[in-house]
Amino acid sequence: MNMLLTILLALLLCSNSWAAATITIVNGDPAGVGFNDPTPVTPVGGNTGITLGAQRLNAFQAAASKWGETLDSNVPIRVLATWEALPCTDTAAVLGSAGALEVFSDFPGAPQANAWFGKAETNKLIGFDADPDTPDIRARFNVNLGQPGCFTGSPFYLGLDNNHGSNTDLVTVLLHEFAHGLGFQTYTDDETGELLAGIPSIWDYFLLDTTTGKVWTDMNNAERVASAIKSGKLVWNGVQVTNAAQVVLQAGTPILTVLTPPEVAGIYQVGTAAFGPPLSSPGVTGEVMPVVDTPPDLGLACVPLSDLNTRAVRGKIAMIDRGTCTFVVKIRNVQEAGAVGTIVVDNVAGAPPPGIGGSDPGIVIPVVRITLEDGQALKQAIARRTRTHSGMYANLGVNLGIRAGTDPLGRVLMYAPRPNQPGSSVSHCDTSATPNQLMEPAINADLRHEVKPPFDLTYPLLKDIGW
Ligand SMILES: [Zn+2]
Repeated sequence: MNMLLTILLALLLCSNSWAAATITIVNGDPAGVGFNDPTPVTPVGGNTGITLGAQRLNAFQAAASKWGETLDSNVPIRVLATWEALPCTDTAAVLGSAGALEVFSDFPGAPQANAWFGKAETNKLIGFDADPDTPDIRARFNVNLGQPGCFTGSPFYLGLDNNHGSNTDLVTVLLHEFAHGLGFQTYTDDETGELLAGIPSIWDYFLLDTTTGKVWTDMNNAERVASAIKSGKLVWNGVQVTNAAQVVLQAGTPILTVLTPPEVAGIYQVGTAAFGPPLSSPGVTGEVMPVVDTPPDLGLACVPLSDLNTRAVRGKIAMIDRGTCTFVVKIRNVQEAGAVGTIVVDNVAGAPPPGIGGSDPGIVIPVVRITLEDGQALKQAIARRTRTHSGMYANLGVNLGIRAGTDPLGRVLMYAPRPNQPGSSVSHCDTSATPNQLMEPAINADLRHEVKPPFDLTYPLLKDIGW
């Protein structure tokens, strides 16, 4: 009996020790550069390194430890890392990048046939290193960040405590990039739709286009290209992520809901304004009336509205066009004409609709921005109208039934901007996720070194693909 207990205990301990992974950083820099930069520095935010190179390595090891304590693999994960000159300007920079060095398919125990898996995950699934001669992940980071001409004056924050102020937190960027290397990416070309060597990525089995009901593996190249730019309609169809989203993402998403006429009824993505009242629930419902003050059919609202336009929008939700003057000037004019809300139609193609900048404490009506394409469809639907009625009713508000960053069925939206952003599209969460997620395409300042619920969806997604 004692013997049996001892064995059981040993097994339990053994499986406990597997509930983690070891991630080692392989320093690929030449002498004097990157991790080997001897420039003396002062310890910062729990990072005790006294050279720039040592602090960089400590930050890498902190991010490696975070992923290591989260993941489950008995094969050490090796990250070959270097610091290099990456594209940058004074105001924009590639912070770093990472990806799997090798991919494998149809190995014994693969949870999905005919699917590429990154090397680190393959190793986990088969229980040994599929190619001991090659590291698992390749990471490159921007050695010039903060230097003149490259995000001038804003270097990486190398502390480990996330107290980065206005600088970019290196540990956060590393957590993001390591996730890509672990498999948070498709190996399919998001610009051409082409599969890697004719085999889909495990990722592609979970990318669902809600307008066609097809996943990426059921599509041809052209269909994949088309679905990669369907902002708001490309979702992650994985049970781990969908369940976790109920905990991680906040209830309520700002949205335009067109109630009637039926041919355009539905929900539309919006950009929200930096001024005016935040969208709320139940929000503002009303008849939508366009302002027309600029031939042939634009309503710029850059000057006080004419009597005709004033009669059209009074007590209604005004629809106006972006351009010529500031948002604040336009909204002031329609507010003074008696509108109860405003929809601004973008004047350049693209999706999702960006936010609306500006400041004016005197604006008291809700304002949203919609895409040019959506605006044209809505205008078309009310092209025949009277001077005071369009018959289109809509709500500007927060839909509490939809979490911020999911579709109405609770599936997490993937980043699918129009035009396509090669390398960013479809391999990130959508930017509408609230609170901000680690795997959005840009690093937000409020991220908190978390990779799993209740804060983050990254680890549930890796579990969906087999981790
Ligand atoms: Zn990324």
